[in-house]
Amino acid sequence: MERVADRIKHFREFHDTVPTEEVVKQTDKCMSCGVPFCQAGCMISGMASGCPLHNLIPEINHLVACGSMEQAYLRLAKTHSFPEFTGRVCPALCEAACTSGVHSTPVATKSNERALIEYAYENGLVKEEAPKVRTGKKVAVIGSGPSGLAAAQLLNRRGHSVTVYERSDRPGGLLRYGIPNMKLDKKVIDRRLALMEKAGISFVCNANIGKDIPAEEIMNEFDSVILACGASNPRDIKVPGREAKGIYFAVGFLGKVTKALLDSDFEKVPYQLAEGKSVLVIGGGDTGNDCVGTSIRLHAKEVIQLEMMPPAPKERLESNPWPEWPKVLKTDYGQEEAIEVFGKDPRIYQTTVTEFLKDEKGNVCGAKLVSLEPKKDPETGRMNMVPVKGTEKTIPVDLVLIAAGFLGSEKYVTEAFGVETDGRSNVKTNPGEYATSRKKVFCAGDVHRGQSLVVWAIAEGRAVAKEVDLALMGYTNL
Ligand SMILES: Cc1cc2nc3c(=O)[nH]c(=O)nc-3n(C[C@H](O)[C@H](O)[C@H](O)COP(=O)(O)OP(=O)(O)OC[C@H]3O[C@@H](n4cnc5c(N)ncnc54)[C@H](O)[C@@H]3O)c2cc1C
Ligand code: SF4
Repeated sequence: MERVADRIKHFREFHDTVPTEEVVKQTDKCMSCGVPFCQAGCMISGMASGCPLHNLIPEINHLVACGSMEQAYLRLAKTHSFPEFTGRVCPALCEAACTSGVHSTPVATKSNERALIEYAYENGLVKEEAPKVRTGKKVAVIGSGPSGLAAAQLLNRRGHSVTVYERSDRPGGLLRYGIPNMKLDKKVIDRRLALMEKAGISFVCNANIGKDIPAEEIMNEFDSVILACGASNPRDIKVPGREAKGIYFAVGFLGKVTKALLDSDFEKVPYQLAEGKSVLVIGGGDTGNDCVGTSIRLHAKEVIQLEMMPPAPKERLESNPWPEWPKVLKTDYGQEEAIEVFGKDPRIYQTTVTEFLKDEKGNVCGAKLVSLEPKKDPETGRMNMVPVKGTEKTIPVDLVLIAAGFLGSEKYVTEAFGVETDGRSNVKTNPGEYATSRKKVFCAGDVHRGQSLVVWAIAEGRAVAKEVDLALMGYTNL
């Protein structure tokens, strides 16, 4: 991996593809496993443990250990649509559940996955052929994020004619305009899209369904519709002064930076968005971390990241045993970079904003903060974070990025298609199914399960494809 001091000077990917010798070393380690939990992808204590795609990890590793990268890639491609995305951005649920990880380090499955798919691309093994026979059925996919792309890929392979509609100017969903380029090079998306287009999938960008194009037009033209629109409705921070200029939602900001880079072929870095500014990122999660890393690359003067909750423990608690997902403190790339540049971790825990201050031009110039402590609500018994009196303070701020989570699907789309949503604004289906309350309309990905992970979006995209195929043909071989 590139050194922190070097990588903050650019927006290029900073994780390298590991060499084949390292992959082989890792796979040898896998061969001494007793019972593999890495591929289970089941829920334990409400958290996923193991790969949700059920990638055949031990079999893949065995094939690598036997000397066949090609066979290993083909085994990976049986369960996975886009290893090049997860091999870069997955939090690696497989590694957290790896048996080798109980007493030692886990097998490096994520970097092996990346090495395998890159080997496959380099050696011409990644193919997406147009189907020999078309079924005559037409499917519309609304949204071109990983769930929509995975569904489109399988349905096209099956012979259905697939059109993917995307409201942005380029396809990819949050792979494109959420996750920053230094984590996922956008050429990696384009490389896959070119194959999909060549195989006959149509992409229509700048097409906002439910706004520019009526939902009923789509319903009349297609035999099935898949809503794969994501959960991009951001949670706001509703405090006095919110209307000040210079306060943005994280995804809007990150998308703007990526668009400027792509539009100028990486010639023009939009430094003006953060250069010399004191940046306040609200939200201690992964999106907030991406804002920290991006602000540093744009030459921010300082970056502070607020988190309402206390820090997670450094090591697993007894109540959180393996193979559960480990709820431990993680210092991600953006925070690492902030430590290098500013000499301290940007995160301030148990703190929130109570007010934004504006200057005479209406620009944000400060934020009032207060510390929080956990307190049990006597009526509900729930633990809430409440302000601690006497801890109020004001800090100077020129740019605020709100990364406080997402509130599910956007109403205009669900209303346009007339589908029911649940209490969290996710599109409602029977458990483990993808058909919505409206005939011939299905859903997958974040619009269905709420803001989640790329690997889950791909898993749902593959699952919805099967359900749509079954509905169209009366049987499915997907
Ligand atoms: C900043 C950020 C960083 C993240 N980093 C990671 C990470 O490192 N690893 C990870 O696993 N996950 C990460 N995630 C989560 C991950 O990106 C999402 O879970 C995943 O992209 C969801 O896929 P999706 O296909 O359901 O929706 P999305 O990727 O959100 O795609 C939905 C698409 O639908 C389009 N759309 C919506 N409505 C319409 C309409 N009416 N008409 C046409 N098009 C429409 C949207 O423009 C969008 O392109 C991150 C999320 C964010 C916000
Ligand atoms: S998709 Fe993610 S969880 Fe599954 S094997 Fe790859 S890195 Fe692991």
